[in-house]
Amino acid sequence: MTTAMKEKLALLNLPGIREILDETIRGAITEELSYEAFFVTLLDHEYMLRKNSRVERLLKESKLPLQKTFGTFDFKRLAAKAIQKIKALDDGLFLDRKENILIFGNPGTGKTHLIAAIADAQIRKGRRLLFTTCSILVQNLLIAKRDLKLPALLKKLSRYDGLVIDDIRYVQQSREEIEILFTLLADRYEQGSILLTSNLPFSKWDQIFKDSMTTAAAIDRLVHHSVIIEINAGSYRTEAAKNKQ
Ligand code: ADP
Ligand code: MG
Repeated sequence: MTTAMKEKLALLNLPGIREILDETIRGAITEELSYEAFFVTLLDHEYMLRKNSRVERLLKESKLPLQKTFGTFDFKRLAAKAIQKIKALDDGLFLDRKENILIFGNPGTGKTHLIAAIADAQIRKGRRLLFTTCSILVQNLLIAKRDLKLPALLKKLSRYDGLVIDDIRYVQQSREEIEILFTLLADRYEQGSILLTSNLPFSKWDQIFKDSMTTAAAIDRLVHHSVIIEINAGSYRTEAAKNKQ
């Protein structure tokens, strides 16, 4: 490879081709590669490199908890119906359709693990998702509002295909906290998917949103286009502790 070639590949941001050009030329001569095969080798390598670095960047940006993936997820604990629903999400169409995923179950049943695994699988296909807990999200929204930057934050969040809101629950919410959470739900309605987990069934959501009007409006927006997964298994933590004994 000449210096001029090196410079041009760098300028065009083609590090993959730059990496393997010399050896591919040598290989093409000795193995008598066709022009097409030669080009495809270079193209595939560049593509792989880009794709991998994009996924790495997206994973880092997503703030997903480490190791909560399908690789470490035990499906045996779930009912067949839930498994079927989870498998159907794999194609990622729910993100294109701006559908929400709502996961319910008692504490320790694997809700956080499952929602993180669903998000992880989509990120590995190149989609943009952000993981956050409900309480951190509310705090960040309030800070943005205080600094008059709420529209900017909402816009930033709207760029994600999916927003994970883990563990929506009653956290001594003030009127302001409830309102801002509701603002976010309304803002995202039909604009982008929400992936949410909760220990509380809808029948107890007035504990989160306080008055019945707001509760009904919030549930209405979330449920309209949604996939609801209920995990009725026992607590994984308790069982893991029991199995150790
Ligand atoms: P929840 O969010 O419902 O309270 P978590 O997702 O935090 O429950 O699960 C509790 C612990 O048990 C975590 O360490 C999680 O990784 C593990 N766990 C739960 N369900 C499963 C499962 N089906 N397969 C593997 N690990 C699980
Ligand atoms: Mg959880």
